[in-house]
Amino acid sequence: MGSDGNQIHAMFFPYMAPGHMMPMVDMARMFAAFGAKVTIIITTMNALRIKNVIDRDVKLGRDITLEIISLPSTEVGLPEGCENVISAPTPEMSIKLFHAIELLQPKIKKLFSDLHPDCIVSDSLCPWTLDIANELGIARIAFNGSGFFNLCLSENITHYEPHKSIESETETFVVPGLPDEVTLTRSQLPDIVKAKNKFSELFDNFYELEPGYADHCRNVLGIKAWHIGPVSLVNRDTVDKVDRGEKTSISKHDCINWLDCKKPRSVLYICFGSLTRFNKKQTTEIAYALEASGHPFIWVVGKVSKTSNDEFEDEEQEQWLPKGFEDKIKENGHGLLVRGWAPQVLILEHEAIGGFVTHCGWNSILEGVVAGVPFITWPIFAEQFYNEKLVTQVLNLGVSIGNEVWKAWATEDSLVIKSGDDILMAINAVMGDTEEAIDMNKRAKKLGELAKKAVEEGHSSYNDLKRLIEDIKMHRISKSNGVIENSGNA
Ligand code: UDP
Repeated sequence: MGSDGNQIHAMFFPYMAPGHMMPMVDMARMFAAFGAKVTIIITTMNALRIKNVIDRDVKLGRDITLEIISLPSTEVGLPEGCENVISAPTPEMSIKLFHAIELLQPKIKKLFSDLHPDCIVSDSLCPWTLDIANELGIARIAFNGSGFFNLCLSENITHYEPHKSIESETETFVVPGLPDEVTLTRSQLPDIVKAKNKFSELFDNFYELEPGYADHCRNVLGIKAWHIGPVSLVNRDTVDKVDRGEKTSISKHDCINWLDCKKPRSVLYICFGSLTRFNKKQTTEIAYALEASGHPFIWVVGKVSKTSNDEFEDEEQEQWLPKGFEDKIKENGHGLLVRGWAPQVLILEHEAIGGFVTHCGWNSILEGVVAGVPFITWPIFAEQFYNEKLVTQVLNLGVSIGNEVWKAWATEDSLVIKSGDDILMAINAVMGDTEEAIDMNKRAKKLGELAKKAVEEGHSSYNDLKRLIEDIKMHRISKSNGVIENSGNA
């Protein structure tokens, strides 16, 4: 049933990958904190990932419920319990997972139809939810997992096709029609240049981060958009920050104690998100650069990539670090390895963190921005190269490692090899005491303050969430008066 009176009922259907699910759950919690009735549709195993934090919200009096459904994993040949891209061991398994998600359509349709919310917020990776919403006459808002910059860049690349009039993969071209001069090479473009998306879009973002692109998106591209982030800021308590995402592989206590002993802005944090796999050669080069840099570091060592004839198992992880590396850094207290999942938001906000080596996933960028730390950018795939350009060419908040080739999954023969010296040079450019590094730090700090302010009452993201909820109410009123006939978009 639709909600009564002044309260809107918003239904969220998060995509099953950490970088999508976590911000969407945070968004849902923001809606509930704003007084909306919220239902999150989630599969059994993924529900376990968010149950604690939702239980705490319910205790605080928020109107938020989980609607748990089962994923047809075994029907598509997935191992039982594999319900998230992070637990899919190979690209083939990820594809099976995407297929299982598609198979949820009838269940989702029934839920939308039974509960008939005022609006559905679903990932732009699930365009079929728009068809269902339209059929049922419910407003649908697409969650855009990235920023305005990425949307403007992809739109203009699709529209002007600047990459088609150049000779080689490595020649740089300027993307026409943007507020800034942004250059790319063809080898940095995603395999599929994204199709035009005319949906109403909901961004985990704040206006002050990319005002020119927010305006461009709305005024030039004509896309209806709301920015309500950084949504990770909804996690105010330490326990929420630690519980966000997967189960952490290091205790909060060990992590914070280690950081407490380091000087302010002296520590490098290295993490490549939830999905990136590096090969053994690459991790060895990273280890070399970290040691040579002399800066203390926390390195979230993700999974190493397997090739088809590689029998490499997780238990053998030590083998892909230089011999003795781990013992040495433990002994001299210089580094902390996190094998698995780190409490990233908690780490980044510690005053000891002075730089972030990132794969440029949108969540990581925003979390780094909130923390006010400069970046060392190392994009790999998805829209990460676009995000890198925002950081290095527009915001001047970081230095690029210099990766040149977009590649979805690093393997033994992968081109994603940056030498230890390349890595070291970028680290030194950000962590050093040159005028440029100092200015970058100042800019990062200032933007961090603006980010935190944006979600406070009366500021940009708070106001946009208020506007969005009013828009949904207006849509409901128009619908009950029979005014709306078409798309079902808010
Ligand atoms: N993350 C984390 N601990 C880890 C790895 C990742 O908390 O050890 C979180 C990180 O804070 C971010 C998300 O996972 O919120 C990754 O999203 P992002 O968009 O940066 O990259 P993706 O994983 O989608 O490539």
